[in-house]
Amino acid sequence: MPEGPEIWRAADKISNAITGKEIEAIFFAFDELKQFEKSLQGLKINSVTPRGKAIITSFENNLSLYSHNQLYGKWMISENGDEPDTNRSLRVAIHTHDKSAFLYSASEIEILDDGEVENHSYIKKLGPDVVHPGTTYEEVLERYISSTFKNRKLSTLLLDQGFLSGLGNYLRSEILFCSGVDPDFRPKDCSEEQIEALARNSLDLSRRSYKTGGLTTPDSLVEALKEEGASRGQYRHYAYGRAGKPCYKCGKDILVMETGGRKVYYCVTEQKNHN
Ligand SMILES: [Zn+2]
Repeated sequence: MPEGPEIWRAADKISNAITGKEIEAIFFAFDELKQFEKSLQGLKINSVTPRGKAIITSFENNLSLYSHNQLYGKWMISENGDEPDTNRSLRVAIHTHDKSAFLYSASEIEILDDGEVENHSYIKKLGPDVVHPGTTYEEVLERYISSTFKNRKLSTLLLDQGFLSGLGNYLRSEILFCSGVDPDFRPKDCSEEQIEALARNSLDLSRRSYKTGGLTTPDSLVEALKEEGASRGQYRHYAYGRAGKPCYKCGKDILVMETGGRKVYYCVTEQKNHN
């Protein structure tokens, strides 16, 4: 499942291909959406924006295409209107004069009017988006200390899209590691410094990953590791996916534990020593 930074990059790619352009033709595979093929033709695409793990494509007549990829959905872009070579089932095709965007295999596709977007059952439950430039540190800090969330275990809280949207498995491990917080802690077990670090890292690491295409480690560490011949898989994260490898801060082995069938990677030295 892609996380916020990957969804934002996917939305940017679609947006760069079709935003501001006129729809020359649009195709919907689902019968209930066919009625929109004619009315959307000739209209401009205003924007393509991620909302949690959904993507909203807005048209100039105040209608929007809501699509959630779930596990298998995928957007693809083509330069000349030709369909990409794939075995997936085509669900939506948007053709402009030079580029086309194709949505494959997604099952949740709806046309909504502007008022309905914010009230959509998926969108209205989302917490502040960690990659969105409008989300502030104060807003995120407030959430960590609120009575709604402070009693929940961080290892599950950080995957709850209603808490903060855009976080997923790798960001969870990296935020906890960089904040020096035990994955078994609840926000109320944390010191003030730890809560502040969690709020700061929730935003900083997600935005860094968005900007760099998936890195949560800082440039200084990336450069030093590259000089030693490290591969991308070795330098992209501090803890995530590195079980049994030496921690970049203390040298001890990174450990892994499972919560709800998904793995949290952590270091004893940085994360299990304080109370
Ligand atoms: Zn360590």
